Parts: sequence; C-alpha cells; structure tokens
Amino acid sequence: MGYTEDIKGNPLVDDDQILELRPQDLILPSVKEGFEEGADKVLVRIARFIDDLLEKFYGMKPYYNLKNSDDLIGQLVVGLAPHISCGMVGRIIGFSDTQAFFASPMFHAALRRDCDGDEACVLLLMDAFLNFSQQYLPDRRGGRTMDAPLVLTPIIDPAEVDDMVFGLDVAKRYPLELYEAAQDYKKTGEVMIDSVGKRLGKESQYEGFGFTHNVSDINDAVLISSYKTLPSMQDKMKKQMELAVKVRAVKEDDVARLVIEKHFMKDLKGNLRKFSQQSFRCVNCNEIYRRPPLSGICNKCGGKIIYTISQGSVVKYLQPSLDLMKEFKLSPYLNQSLELLTNRIETMFGKESEKQDHLSKWF
Ligand SMILES: [Zn+2]
Repeated sequence: MGYTEDIKGNPLVDDDQILELRPQDLILPSVKEGFEEGADKVLVRIARFIDDLLEKFYGMKPYYNLKNSDDLIGQLVVGLAPHISCGMVGRIIGFSDTQAFFASPMFHAALRRDCDGDEACVLLLMDAFLNFSQQYLPDRRGGRTMDAPLVLTPIIDPAEVDDMVFGLDVAKRYPLELYEAAQDYKKTGEVMIDSVGKRLGKESQYEGFGFTHNVSDINDAVLISSYKTLPSMQDKMKKQMELAVKVRAVKEDDVARLVIEKHFMKDLKGNLRKFSQQSFRCVNCNEIYRRPPLSGICNKCGGKIIYTISQGSVVKYLQPSLDLMKEFKLSPYLNQSLELLTNRIETMFGKESEKQDHLSKWF
C-alpha cells in the first residue's frame, strides 16, 4: 500500500512501528461498543448493493466482490462534509474502535473541517460515479450548491485547502525556549516553530509532520466525542459552559460573551433579516410568491399560502442567549444589545404564549 518504512526511516519489520499517515489515507470508525453502526459494516453492504446494481441493472461485471470488511482496505472513497460541494478522494487503510475519522490534518482541511467535532462522511467512489447526478438534486435554493459532490478533487493541493491548517505546528518536540517565552507572555510569533504554512510548495508539505505525545493505542482513548452524545445545541452549550467554569485558565463570562457575540447574535440578526425578506409558498402547488397575493390564497390553485422561513428557526437562539445573560456576567453593552434584539423580535412576532419547538425535543 505504499508504506515501506516507519517514521524514523527504518524498514517495516514488526507491528509496533509507527507509520505516518499519508495525506489521503483514512482510518474509518468501526465502533466496537457504541452508538452507531461502524463504517466497515455499512460500506460492505453498500459495496454489495453496488455490485448488484452493476450486474442486474447495468448488465456489467461486479466491481467490489468483497468477502468481508477486510477487503475494503485499499478501496477509494469520496470524503464530503456538510456545506461543501467539493468531494475529496481518499483511500481506506483501516478501521479504529472509535467513532472518529482519523486522517491527515490536510485531509480535514480539504473537507473544510477544523477538527472541532464536526462531522464528515465518505461514500464509495463507484457509488458516487454510479449514483450521483446533478439531476437528482432538488431545485430549491441551496439544494444545488451544498452537501453534494459537484466537483471531485483527486489529489490534495495544500495551497487550496482551508487555510486554518496553515497555522498547525509540525514539530517533533517543543523547545524549552517556547515554555520560557510563554512564561514571559511573549507573542506567538517570537518563537520559531515549523508550521504547515511555512512548508507550502515544498515536498515536506505532505509529510514529516511529527507529533509531540505518544499513545500506546489509538483505540485507548475517548471513543466518541461528546459533540455526538449530547443531542441538542442547548445540551452542548450547557456542557461547554460547565467546562469553562471548571477550567481555571478560562474566564467563563468571556466564553459566554463569545458564544453570544460570535454565534447566537449573528444567527439571530441574520435570520430576522431573512424573515423580513422572505418569499411565500403555496402548500398545494409549491408556487413561490415574492409577496403574498392580496386574495390571501394561491393565484394558480387557490391553495393556502405559507411562510418559507418559520418563526421557530428565527428565534431558536434567543432563549439560550437570554439564559446565558442571566447566568453569566456580561457587559452592559451586550446585555442591552440582547434586550434590544428581544424587543425587535417581539415587535415582529408579538409576545406569543405558544412557542415553536424543535422536533427533537420530543425524542
Ligand atoms: Zn397553489
């Protein structure tokens, strides 16, 4: 499979040697004890379906002919993540017991993920070739541009991936100088540590990244991220704040401020704006109206006219923001901004006794 020597350059002779993962090689979740079915089982079933499809529908020879999940090793897949439309070709080289997606930082960056607990997916390459067509995509807004492999990148070009990964340190150890500089509150740029960004265009942009902390086994770890086990956004936020309160190096009030300023406020204001500029739709024939007809019913079929953006989706972050405001000490400016926003929302929707909830509340 192209792995001939370990990270020290020694030839491979036993199972205990450490190899550097190549940029497009993937270790997928097998999940021995856990919440969801492992990728090994799912992909074997899909491969068998693809073979059936080739034989019975297209009248061609089966392609995968898998006996079991071991035969998935070496197969090519397309990696895809939410909100992107460019698939990245990867190669399966193994499975872990965790529900994690082990890949080079370069691969995560190519999928526009920054390793903060986001999700990604893979599909077998032949599945994408056979069963994806732009014609299957919905015509609705957003349906054509995201979450579908419109473009396929066969080889990672580090200069084209998400630039957040350029700041990744690539060092085998941190020098004493770094810790001394930290004690003196020096700026990060004052200690020279090699990073991905400094290697762009060179052969070393792909390999020799190194690592600083040994583990005995990648399966001897947290098997599933709490980002996955905590179902709702409110649960995730609650746990995040609990952690912020516990960690001495973190100012919890500042975390609350950041969550509101960078996330909730932007979402609330953006959605409120979208709500006031939205179009209207007939429930019966799906005719879209820039303005609701004066008759109050669909001009084409007499059907009921409804909003295309729901009130619930606009105000979903209001209560969590107000909860944070109550619990943590925010600046008077931010408190007042939130109060003004609450007023604006109440002006728009009225103070309703009936509240719209997310469906997941009932599961
Ligand atoms: Zn209609």
